[in-house]
Amino acid sequence: MKIEDCRTDFPITRDLVYLDSAATSLTPKPVVKAMVEYDLRYRANVGRGVHRLAAVATHRYRDARDAVRSFVGGENGTLAMTRNTTEAIGMVAAGLPWQRGDRVVTTLLEHHSNLLPWLRLREHGVAVDIVRPDAEGNLDLADLEAVVRDDTRLVAVTHASNVLGTVLPVREIAGICHDRGARFLVDGAQSVPHLPIDVAAIGCDYFCFSGHKMLGPTGTGGLWMRRQDLEPLFVGGGAVESVTAGGYTLAPGEERYEAGTPPIAGTIGLARAAAYLREIGMDTVRRHEERLCARLIDGLAALDGVTVVGPDAEAERIGVVSFTVEGMHPHEVAQILDEAAAVLVRSGDHCCMPLMRHLGLVHGTVRASAYIYTTEEEIELLLATVEELSRRIA
Ligand code: PMP
Repeated sequence: MKIEDCRTDFPITRDLVYLDSAATSLTPKPVVKAMVEYDLRYRANVGRGVHRLAAVATHRYRDARDAVRSFVGGENGTLAMTRNTTEAIGMVAAGLPWQRGDRVVTTLLEHHSNLLPWLRLREHGVAVDIVRPDAEGNLDLADLEAVVRDDTRLVAVTHASNVLGTVLPVREIAGICHDRGARFLVDGAQSVPHLPIDVAAIGCDYFCFSGHKMLGPTGTGGLWMRRQDLEPLFVGGGAVESVTAGGYTLAPGEERYEAGTPPIAGTIGLARAAAYLREIGMDTVRRHEERLCARLIDGLAALDGVTVVGPDAEAERIGVVSFTVEGMHPHEVAQILDEAAAVLVRSGDHCCMPLMRHLGLVHGTVRASAYIYTTEEEIELLLATVEELSRRIA
């Protein structure tokens, strides 16, 4: 499928300029169709009954989960379906055998979902080392390397920043972790939708992501793990091999991490979303966003009173661009863009309050984020509307 042919699959793009894909992406018709088909044609619970619908649903659910696992290159590990990235990270925080004196290393670039779970571990005597990026939001790998010690149990970093678009050198970080015997968690919420991902090549131990940011349904996500070395967060129906009144044996496969009925329609929809992205090709997705992003950064940087926050277009980055307009609150800018031109962008702290404080952005930023359905005309419309705005306040 050609990327420029995909727009008709996203009806919302007919009426609106949707530049908030980093918050959640739009969903194409084939994904919705796959979910509706499950509900209308073969709906049954999975991994339980033996009747014909149960067999079809179980088969399709497991195939879907395998397809999502393979989309991130995770064939040699376990993928547990979760509600989202936050739940996946929480499962790692709750599932590792922490001891007082253990240390976690993370960064100030993180989304709250990859910061709060570690800060909470402080209550159990775990120390948290937070590596700070420079004033442009770039992380110096030597700073990270300096704090990964023998007693560091886990390093947890984002693959791509949801505020600045910066892509972190996760392979190199994996190398540091392996040298020091620390486990490595990658928050892939913003990378899986936009970059080709191969968790085996990255060399991480845990990889967390959300379905709703990669054309899939809300309420879906994944926790990929190299080894099954986590205690499951929940136990119950579907997660066990055998149970007596005296105890239980957990199922050997991914089921042990999926107690209760999993998101069946959601996972089937997510696998369809992964297939949709594959049909376009993740390299094509990446190049498309790079082109739009370069124009967006150049265009914004040329405007008086507008400041682009984050790395330039040449840096390795995803199609997320943050900016501020002098003298205006980011929410005000977002509201005017919506009212004046039906351009929808996110504004505020983007669930990254510590990063905002660090960068001195009291009210946060305006953030435009592109995806496969975004066109050059839409970027031009955003630029023209911001230009009009900045001229008005000059
Ligand atoms: N990490 C990053 C980098 C994100 O951008 C987000 C979502 N904005 C999350 C984690 C949390 O994702 P979710 O809300 O789907 O759990």
